[in-house]
Amino acid sequence: MALATAPSPARHPIRPPVDPRPAARRRRRRTAGVAALIVAASLAYDRAGLFLVPLLFVLIVPFEKRFPRHPEQKLRRPQLGTDLGYVLAQPATTFIGALVLVPVGLVSLAWLPGLAVRPLVVMMPLWLQVVLGFLAFDLIIYWAHRWSHEIPFLWRFHAVHHSTETLDWVSGFRNHPFDGAIIAPPVVFLLAAGFPLEFTGIVAFLQIATGLFLHANVRWRLRPLHRIVITPEFHHWHHANDPEAINSNYSVFLPAWDLFFRTYFMPADRRPEVYGIDEPMAPGMVGHFLHPFRGIRSDWWRLPFRAIRHPWRAIRALGRGLRHLAEEIRRVGWRRPAAMDRSAEPVDRQPTRVDPLVEGLAEGHRGATTSRTRGGLDAGAALADAPHEPGVVGVGPEHHRPVG
Ligand SMILES: [Zn+2]
Repeated sequence: MALATAPSPARHPIRPPVDPRPAARRRRRRTAGVAALIVAASLAYDRAGLFLVPLLFVLIVPFEKRFPRHPEQKLRRPQLGTDLGYVLAQPATTFIGALVLVPVGLVSLAWLPGLAVRPLVVMMPLWLQVVLGFLAFDLIIYWAHRWSHEIPFLWRFHAVHHSTETLDWVSGFRNHPFDGAIIAPPVVFLLAAGFPLEFTGIVAFLQIATGLFLHANVRWRLRPLHRIVITPEFHHWHHANDPEAINSNYSVFLPAWDLFFRTYFMPADRRPEVYGIDEPMAPGMVGHFLHPFRGIRSDWWRLPFRAIRHPWRAIRALGRGLRHLAEEIRRVGWRRPAAMDRSAEPVDRQPTRVDPLVEGLAEGHRGATTSRTRGGLDAGAALADAPHEPGVVGVGPEHHRPVG
């Protein structure tokens, strides 16, 4: 029997250390490939993004350079490629979003009361229709935005927008395609009620025009305007990763709603410094798109195919989901957010309950309780149960920011 000898260094050269995370690297490459496909498909459909990027650059970056809020912030910052991808993929994400928005609007039956009040609306003069329509639309967006923060299921989607840790000329484009689907029923109501379509166009234009600068790295405080129209400072506080600022400044055009519903936060002696959220989120566009579905049944991606095979069952399930959502809205709606109300019991000590929407979809989460982060999200629990993924950035659920 031959004696075992030490391998000769010449025949077995020292290998470089093996990357312990090849699976993560492969996954990252795969998701980057899917993101590139989404962007390519989007550009094949509509090249507007190719013009939008230089337009945004020329419109906003000179102001960021001249009046920077965070002078140390570089133009080439982490995740810039991801956010540019969002700009280029706008047509694709809008299309994907409409796939959910339209059925939600129809199944919600909000068009029924809309049709009921239509005779009243059409009797109004046009100016009154426009003013009322504008106020109603802005108020609806306030509540849709607020519920997106305070209702666990909706926060899953809205968290993507808040995951950016850098506010600048492109960061505002980071949005999950399904974020905002909650707005479909009230919009369907307004349209069925006969409010002129043009006003939604005007509001959308105003929001885009103001929105361009809301996320920009500009130091404008515009103090005289604070209570009249939203400013970069107002929206920067909304994005601030600061316990005192959580659940505040939801308005997207008129801060009057925040003042009226007591969610207005504009301290005179401080400025927002740090942005983002504490919950972990996989990087990249595809990681963001999948984020809301983490912890939900593993075959969720089959759901659209099942909906095609059993459309009636899918409509009934969607109706059930919307009913659950309405219950959640009744539970949290109209109440001052606990984060802003020092006298209120901290939300994470309130009787916990399973998010009913997630309960219907979850696998192995029976009896799980809702742990709350910014928006009452139970994603912490979901992620805690999810298999560990080295590609996931951020800190563990134990670092969730306390609220209240
Ligand atoms: Zn928000």
